[in-house]
Amino acid sequence: MHLHWLTIGGAVEISIQQELEQIRERGLYRKTHLIQGRQSAWVEMDGKKLLLLCSNNYLGLADHPALIEAAVNATTQFGVSSGASRLVSGTMELHERLEAAVARFKHTEAALLFNSGYAANTGIISALAGRGDIIFSDRLNHASIIDGALLSGARLVRYPHNDHNALARLLEKQRGSGRALIVTDGVFSMDGDIAPLRELVGLKAAHGALLMVDDAHGSGVLGEQGRGTAEMLGITEGVDVLMGTFGKALGSYGAYAAVSQELRELLLNRARSFIFSTSLPPSVLAASLAAIELVQSPEGANRREQLRRKSDLFRNSMRSAGFTLPDGATQIVPLVTGQADTTMRFSEMLLDEGVYVQGIRPPTVPAGACRLRFTLMATHGSDDLIWAAERIIAVGRRLGVI
Ligand SMILES: *Cc1c(COP(=O)(O)O)cnc(C)c1O
Repeated sequence: MHLHWLTIGGAVEISIQQELEQIRERGLYRKTHLIQGRQSAWVEMDGKKLLLLCSNNYLGLADHPALIEAAVNATTQFGVSSGASRLVSGTMELHERLEAAVARFKHTEAALLFNSGYAANTGIISALAGRGDIIFSDRLNHASIIDGALLSGARLVRYPHNDHNALARLLEKQRGSGRALIVTDGVFSMDGDIAPLRELVGLKAAHGALLMVDDAHGSGVLGEQGRGTAEMLGITEGVDVLMGTFGKALGSYGAYAAVSQELRELLLNRARSFIFSTSLPPSVLAASLAAIELVQSPEGANRREQLRRKSDLFRNSMRSAGFTLPDGATQIVPLVTGQADTTMRFSEMLLDEGVYVQGIRPPTVPAGACRLRFTLMATHGSDDLIWAAERIIAVGRRLGVI
């Protein structure tokens, strides 16, 4: 069905069809792929088996028996829905238990749950900063951080990626012109590299700013206990807001801010995505609780070790074939391919070969920096990864990328 969408008064029609056509022409058209079954290392698409190399289910917990059992039991005991925002129909026991577990896990006084990482970032940032304040954001931060900053009404200053010296100069230049919030990804989602948290902690202290770290890709994965980027870098204080998610390495869904008691109180009163949205349901809360426990257990440590090994194996196989990969040692392995059309052709050809990886285009990454973003899982088989690297190398040669 075609909608007729006119300028007010009816003079000009800008059809939805035309808009979609423009998206297609620029090579930016997006669509979903239907897969059958679970988010395991291998998935099925149209009856065909594919090695899944684009999931954030890094530790393979999304179909772990312990999480499934916890979700089923919680549903039986507490029902399916939380019914409303927690400020309306009450906090359920599982919300409190999960917040206590997050605070223990992250070594903070308190924690506040959010419905997703996107909801957390938009809610937290717009609660902390407002008109007259300045948000200093790494140029490669996740889109949800940018959206939070735009929503806040504060001035957004984007600093060059991971360049703490440039940030220092920008902070110096803005001295006296409002409160400052520095925001960075812990592990950058499209590049897999790590923020210089130690330097950022120093800067925030020197300038009286607040520091927020979005550790969506570090939590569960980095550090001895899986507490994330800060743990890996040996930083125990100075990060005011540790944001993390349950939907990636923890195999569940939702997000949190691990903060001081005082900041929790402020967020609970100010974060609109917390206030005006139905809270997470019992099944999800229980699965996240099970995941936090698992991540800190010997099994969790073992899965982290597996993930590191698989990431190294894949990176080395790709490099020895002649692919240039950026530095970085996490489970995110970007292969920068440049233009959107080559990138999408590459990923389509890989689908035919049995390798499932997404092409990443603007606005997720800057124009001309399109890439295949490979993500590793602890549950990938070593032989499967070597096989996949061979397929990628073969297609890369056919496309003239190597
Ligand atoms: C995925 C992601 C988010 C959003 O988290 P969701 O729970 O998927 O909404 C936020 N920040 C970063 C860095 C992410 O990679």
